[in-house]
Amino acid sequence: MTGSTKRFLRAMLVAMKNGAQSFRDYYEREHDPLERDALTAVYNRPMFERRRKKLYSYSLILLDIDNFKGINDAYGHDVGDEVLRGVAAALRTSSGDRVYRIGGEEFAIILAGCGADDAVKVAERLCATVRSLKIIEGQPVTVSAGVAWAGDPTEHEVAYKHADKALYRAKSTGKDRVARFADVFGENERLRRAA
Ligand code: GH3
Ligand code: MG
Ligand code: MG
Repeated sequence: MTGSTKRFLRAMLVAMKNGAQSFRDYYEREHDPLERDALTAVYNRPMFERRRKKLYSYSLILLDIDNFKGINDAYGHDVGDEVLRGVAAALRTSSGDRVYRIGGEEFAIILAGCGADDAVKVAERLCATVRSLKIIEGQPVTVSAGVAWAGDPTEHEVAYKHADKALYRAKSTGKDRVARFADVFGENERLRRAA
């Protein structure tokens, strides 16, 4: 029996035990261990770095789970992990695009060829999707998001900073919401900083 057949059969066994979502996560993690985050099975940070540096004209959405430390403290690390897996799976399904886990409870989505207006709509949909999840009885889970736009590969670092600043603004104005860099700081600042 080849290694890949063994992997597939093992994944089938796990699927029978835990259901389809688990099968997809397990199989992909086994299949692309260098590309996937071990906990959530979404793409890992090196894949994020590799992709964003190649692209022209994309929107970047950074998402961060709200009050996650409180969830860990109240329910334990294992439940925290379950929240991470649940949020990651919802982001994947709802975004229709690659999701990257870029930090502890931070995720990124790169929307190639997508303007910031449409990216804000996607981010708002993602926030609503996460808000509607029922992962922990009686405990809402929410995310905040920051959106920025990059015109070419020279702007990838500045776009990341801008999305991060916007995310910070979404947090500081109440969480469970989306902020776009250009709305918060103005388009001129985006261009000046990118120059
Ligand atoms: P904010 O709403 O401002 O984002 O606050 P927060 O509590 O979500 O953010 P903070 O940075 O204070 O806490 C993040 C926590 O995420 C701290 C860290 O222990 C936890 N964490 C990081 N990686 C993992 C992981 O893989 N599993 C679990 N269960 N917790 C993790
Ligand atoms: Mg964080
Ligand atoms: Mg957080």
